[in-house]
Amino acid sequence: MKKYLQKSVCIIVACMIFSGCSRQPVVYQKADTAMGTIINQTIYVSGGSGNGQAISEEVISCINELETEYLSWRLDTSEVYQINASAGNGQKAELSGLLGDVLEQCEKVYTASDGAFDFTVGKVAGLWDIDSWAVMQTPDAFIPPTDEEISGALAYVGSDKCRLEAGYITLPEGMELDLGAVGKGLALDEVQKVLAGREEVSGAVISVGGSILTYGSKPDGSNWNVGIVNPGDTSQNLGTLSLAGEWYISTSGDYERFIEKDGIRYHHILDPHTGKPADSGVKSVTIICTAGSGISGREGLYSDALSTACFVLGVEDGLKLAEEFGAEALFVDAQDEIYMTEGMKQYFHLSNAEK
Ligand code: ADP
Ligand code: MG
Repeated sequence: MKKYLQKSVCIIVACMIFSGCSRQPVVYQKADTAMGTIINQTIYVSGGSGNGQAISEEVISCINELETEYLSWRLDTSEVYQINASAGNGQKAELSGLLGDVLEQCEKVYTASDGAFDFTVGKVAGLWDIDSWAVMQTPDAFIPPTDEEISGALAYVGSDKCRLEAGYITLPEGMELDLGAVGKGLALDEVQKVLAGREEVSGAVISVGGSILTYGSKPDGSNWNVGIVNPGDTSQNLGTLSLAGEWYISTSGDYERFIEKDGIRYHHILDPHTGKPADSGVKSVTIICTAGSGISGREGLYSDALSTACFVLGVEDGLKLAEEFGAEALFVDAQDEIYMTEGMKQYFHLSNAEK
């Protein structure tokens, strides 16, 4: 993963779908890095590949802006950083329209999931620091936090302990917002607006790490095919989603960022009730939400928040939660069994090798 992140790969493939006619869409593809992950863009655009390049640059700027101005907990330019720095000062921090809306949606998922998704998990996520260990891969040096350390950090976790009012938030001393579980999905909501603002774009597939947006249509009118990674063998796809039009797809898996020690896999999705990597018996969860499914124009955010929440909850409660939000879900459990919402069955096709 790191080698990909270090090298910003830029592949441009532009070819005329219908030669000699610049009004017909061409496909423009670009791979890049932003938000600490890989961004892949496939854009069908009329007016030539120059338009594709300009739009893809706008997409990357939009993602970078979201990270540096709003979401990053590392960069002092971001709103989340400044809110975290204000924790415990007794003053309410003013929220931008965007962050106010995001936190309002996050609070709904927090409540509906009984705290399985918790946007104040920052202190305990920082204690584990799985992101760094997953990059370093030095299990000998990795010592899991003690129960005392975990319960110490958990004292600063609990979205119900922060006060969220219209346009303001107040964080108690030591509490840290962590929007890592929704950043990529939210990025897709914002990218959708960039695409919708350019009439030259007839279709696109944009992936931000494990979250994917399908938009518009292909020139030949066929469905978008989105591969779902087999969590038991990440070099293979488990199957494919066949989707028409605008969809937001997010996967949370124990294979994404982890370190293994003494036969235990310590991954990056934490159960906020225990303060430890979630252990609900699932390896991965994929959530899909379509445009206009009644979840406030933030379907990307919801797909991402719900994939994290469902991973923590496990199959039974996770299926119920997804249905409550009008989303479709696919779980792979520890025995590699697949569980889906009824509605998912029409979209998901197992790979041939798995049949
Ligand atoms: P990814 O970031 O790999 O797509 P997720 O969307 O599931 O995976 O988000 C995981 C990130 O979210 C973690 O790195 C951490 O910052 C944060 N996080 C971990 N557990 C939770 C949780 N239960 N609720 C909310 N955020 C979480
Ligand atoms: Mg998520």
